[in-house]
Amino acid sequence: MDVLQLDVSGRPQAWLTPKEAATLYVLDHVAWTLGKPCMVMRGGTQRRTGLPSRLSLHPIVAVHGAIPARTWAQAPALSNPKLFQRDRQICAYCGGRFPWTALTREHIVPTSRRGVDSWTNCITACKSCNGRKGNRSLHEMGWQLYYLPYVPSLYEDMILRGRRILSDQMAFLLASVPANSRLHN
Ligand SMILES: [Zn+2]
Repeated sequence: MDVLQLDVSGRPQAWLTPKEAATLYVLDHVAWTLGKPCMVMRGGTQRRTGLPSRLSLHPIVAVHGAIPARTWAQAPALSNPKLFQRDRQICAYCGGRFPWTALTREHIVPTSRRGVDSWTNCITACKSCNGRKGNRSLHEMGWQLYYLPYVPSLYEDMILRGRRILSDQMAFLLASVPANSRLHN
């Protein structure tokens, strides 16, 4: 499992390994937690009592510290795994659902025509549709998009980045995801 790290105001910051999360507890950086403890870490032997030390980890931890305001103004980084997940592995041209290995990052306005590599110019396409479209525009092809691209919010981005998301974590993140997001489907 991974632990969801928030800033002290409740905005998501990162996914942590249990070991990284344990370090936050030990260094007393944890401001508050959400959810029932989901994992017990065993440390070394406590010198004073001779008993093994145990640390309960919560699925969501908020940490003390300054909030870098710059972070929130930036769009989340674009990657193929996140793009394919945003689009539910559905080709925007033919509407088919494909395994990751058959999918490509497709630029609606081709990069050869100054299309940019951004969340709003990129959609998921199967290899076959991508090959057929080539460097042409949607208009030239007479094609329409099955869905519209969008920039994921910070909360959506954490869902797209998560590997094994626990139900407490998913509930917390989804509560702040816009109702029109495809992640609700
Ligand atoms: Zn297709």
